[in-house]
Amino acid sequence: MQILFLGTGAADWPNPGPKVGKGRRFSSLLLNQTILIDCGPMALDAIREFDVNVNLITDIVIGHGHGDHINMPIILEIAKLRQEGLPPLRLHVNKGTAAIRCKVPPECAAIIEVMPFMPGDTFNCGETVFKAYPASHPVSKDELTTHFIISLPEGKTMYYGLDGSWFPPTTWHAMQKAKFDVIVWELTCGNLDDWRLGEHSNFSMLKIWKNAFTNDGAISPNTKIFCSHMARTLCPPHDLYAREIANFGFTLAYDGLLWESK
Ligand SMILES: [Zn+2]
Ligand SMILES: [Zn+2]
Repeated sequence: MQILFLGTGAADWPNPGPKVGKGRRFSSLLLNQTILIDCGPMALDAIREFDVNVNLITDIVIGHGHGDHINMPIILEIAKLRQEGLPPLRLHVNKGTAAIRCKVPPECAAIIEVMPFMPGDTFNCGETVFKAYPASHPVSKDELTTHFIISLPEGKTMYYGLDGSWFPPTTWHAMQKAKFDVIVWELTCGNLDDWRLGEHSNFSMLKIWKNAFTNDGAISPNTKIFCSHMARTLCPPHDLYAREIANFGFTLAYDGLLWESK
């Protein structure tokens, strides 16, 4: 199992252009070289900077319709960059966002297929199975935010939770029953008890979740927990903060971080 973090920032980071330097692009990650989860306006620069082979990407999965997580022109650009003759790129996105933000122009109809889903649905990306769960993160009346419990063909289980505040009960109970090898949680608010906690999380919440899900057996000492989606204006500088949260067993992700399971 391999994860490449293409971006680890919340929506308040400026676009760094072709080289990210000490900044962060909007949150996005590549799973096993084939599944791109979230794809905002800076994703293509990250794909180029970190030498991602777009021909290997078969699926793009979007957690919710905010502009830092989905950018249809960039998704179409990625579809066009793939070599001819490949099966269409599958774009999995919640039904409301698919209707509002995912219009496919006729000239792209053969290279991309939009596959809408709803919270509670299960869908496949090749042999990888995604189950979508509701998240506390408002977008618009018809657009829902989902987190995912992802079952990988190599037998690993991953939680992808961007963006969101406290978990709704159905999501919480599903998490309790899982056995996670990897978790990606959002840490938008850093250590601050900020007004955004109604739709995002901070480190106090992550510590509670880690303890609670450890008590349930969903998290073990071997579970790798990454934090992503850090807000520029709310989180301490990376090196300082990475050391601080490592004391509690969390890994602060950074753009370009490549992680492989043993
Ligand atoms: Zn976001
Ligand atoms: Zn959002």
